[in-house]
Amino acid sequence: MQHTLKTSVTFQGIGLHGGKPVRMTLRPAAAGHGIWFKRTDIEIGDAMIPAIYDLVDRTPLCTRLVNAAGVSVSTVEHIMAALAGCGVHNALIELDGPEVPIMDGSSVEFVRGIMARGVRQQAAPVLAYEVLKAVTVEKDGARATLMPSDGLEIEFTIDFEDAAIGRQTRRMNMRNGSFARELSDSRTFCRRSDVEAMRANGLALGGTLENAVVVDGDEILTPGGLRHTDEAVRHKMLDALGDLYMAGGPILGCYVGDKAGHALTNALLRTLFETPGAVRPVLCTPEQAARLPGQGLIWSEIPQVA
Ligand SMILES: [Zn+2]
Repeated sequence: MQHTLKTSVTFQGIGLHGGKPVRMTLRPAAAGHGIWFKRTDIEIGDAMIPAIYDLVDRTPLCTRLVNAAGVSVSTVEHIMAALAGCGVHNALIELDGPEVPIMDGSSVEFVRGIMARGVRQQAAPVLAYEVLKAVTVEKDGARATLMPSDGLEIEFTIDFEDAAIGRQTRRMNMRNGSFARELSDSRTFCRRSDVEAMRANGLALGGTLENAVVVDGDEILTPGGLRHTDEAVRHKMLDALGDLYMAGGPILGCYVGDKAGHALTNALLRTLFETPGAVRPVLCTPEQAARLPGQGLIWSEIPQVA
C-alpha cells in the first residue's frame, strides 16, 4: 500500500550552491498525490513543482526541477532518495528558497527525520513502473541502463584518476531497508580542483568540508575521513535512487550506471518512457510491494551521524 508521513518534519540548513539558509518542511499528503515541492517564498505565480523527470532541467551538477512558470527547486536528489528509500509515496515538501538544504551531503538526516516521525499506510496500492525491456543511454564514455528485474536493484561503477577514489563497483538490491542501512549516510564527493572551479563560477558557495568529501589526489581532505571505504560509489547509488524516483513512483527494474551522473540518469528515464513497450505502470501486489525500498526498515539499523 501507499505510505505518507505520520506528521510533518522540518529541516534547516544551507543550500549547496547559493550558500543561503533554507527551511524545508515535509508534510503528509493524500494517497495518489505523489511528491510535490512548494516554494513558500514565491508570492506571485505557480509555486508548485511536481517531482517528475520531464521537469528536470539538464544541469550537470545537481538535479533541478523547473515548472512551466519557470519556478525551480535545486539539489532535490538527496531528499528524493530518502523518500524513495523510506517508502514515502506521498508528501508535500515546502521550501522557503530555491534549494533543498545540503545537510551533511548525504540523505541520512532526512531518513532519520522521516523515520522518527514514522510513516502511515494509506488505502491505495503503490503505483510502480515495471521495466519490460532494457534501455540504455550513453554519453562521453558514461553509460546507464535499466533492465527488467522483479525488485529494484542498483549497480554502479566509478573510475576516478584520484587514488583516494579510484575504481569502485557495488551492486545492491534495495529491498529490506538496505538503502537506509548501507547507502543513506554516504556523502557527496568532489575534487579540490572542482570546488575551486565551481566557486569561480559562483557555484558551491555553501560547500564546506562538513557537507562533502573533498579529495585531492590520494588525500582525503575532509576531517574524520570516509564513512565507508567505497563511500563515493555508495553516494552515486544514492543519487541514482533519488533520480529514478522522479519516474513518479518506484521502479521495478535493475539500474546499471557506469560513470553516469544526474543528467544521464534523467536521459535514461526519458528514453524509458519514450520507448514503446519498455515500461508499464503496475498497481503492486503485496509480493511486489514487499520487494520495494522502504519495506523492512529498522530504526536501530539507520546510521547515526554526529
Ligand atoms: Zn548527490
